Amino acid sequence: MERFYLTVARVAKKTLHHMVEHRIPMLPDIYSRHFYRYLSSTDLESQEIVEEQQQGDLKEVLSQQNQGLFVIRQLAAMIDRLDQVTVTHTDQLDNHILNLKATDKISDLTQLKEDINKELSLVVDNNNEIHDNIVDAQETVKRLQSKMEEVADMATIDELTGLYNRRALFSRLMEEHSRAERYGQGFSILMIDIDDFKDVNDEHGHQVGDGILKGLGAFLRKNLRDSDFPARFGGEEFICLLPSTDIEHAIQAGNKIRELLSKSTLSSKKKDVTLQITVSIGIATFTSGDDIDDLIKRADDALYLAKRQGKNRIVTEREL
Ligand code: GH3
Ligand code: MG
Ligand code: MG
Repeated sequence: MERFYLTVARVAKKTLHHMVEHRIPMLPDIYSRHFYRYLSSTDLESQEIVEEQQQGDLKEVLSQQNQGLFVIRQLAAMIDRLDQVTVTHTDQLDNHILNLKATDKISDLTQLKEDINKELSLVVDNNNEIHDNIVDAQETVKRLQSKMEEVADMATIDELTGLYNRRALFSRLMEEHSRAERYGQGFSILMIDIDDFKDVNDEHGHQVGDGILKGLGAFLRKNLRDSDFPARFGGEEFICLLPSTDIEHAIQAGNKIRELLSKSTLSSKKKDVTLQITVSIGIATFTSGDDIDDLIKRADDALYLAKRQGKNRIVTEREL
């Protein structure tokens, strides 16, 4: 925990420095956006520490939900009890009806009528209570369900772009990795970085920058296969995991993305700005004995080479 606070303090200091240096207005909203961005794009170590903390927060939310489920179980038990009481009332009423059939005295009938009335009003009260409890339980279940969906999304989806986040990417990479080792089913990754994205922010502001990132998220989802796994790796960098894909097919996929994008425009809806952006892509393919960090490093090196060679191009690890 202390390590987390120290990291937050360190990143806060860097963020302030960055804002002063770039003359960015010191408004709380702007500060927090920069703080987050700084953390997610430049400082891998801090990111890991904060993610650890988020995992802790997630556990907290999950434990709250378990409490919620406990309440529902109690409610269900209560409804069950009430149901049994209703059965008792029904038995009583059946008894009264039998008595009614057997009696021939007016005085007995009056007494019976009162008993039946009393029993009936108890049954009605009971039913009303059951009804209210069921309605309450339904509302609680609905609330918990949407909360659980929210938490599941939080754990795997990047809020801005709607793509998978880093955590989801690494867990999928590990799955693919073990599948590849076990069944020899290889996979490739495209590491995609927007060219000169700093200029977009500088010329149009961060809000437009955010809109463009969102647009690129939608573009990637639309133009990759459903079985592919596009994720935001951090800042303006994305990794698309292509399962069961060798290097040749990965090059085809990378080229398709790069070419289509260079002929399209992306819009930032909030500010009504339409821009044309290009990306550079580094490609690496799993080989037996590979580890995930090596694979990412090779894609990153290839991406770096693509930038050095003039951007808006793809480079594979074979060219390193
Ligand atoms: P290159 O072609 O070499 O990749 O140049 P670049 O300007 O894209 O790269 P650089 O690493 O210099 O700058 C990346 C920029 O991306 C700076 C940072 O503010 C911006 N950025 C990162 N994350 C976000 C984000 O979530 N929203 C916005 N608006 N900008 C972001
Ligand atoms: Mg860039
Ligand atoms: Mg970058």
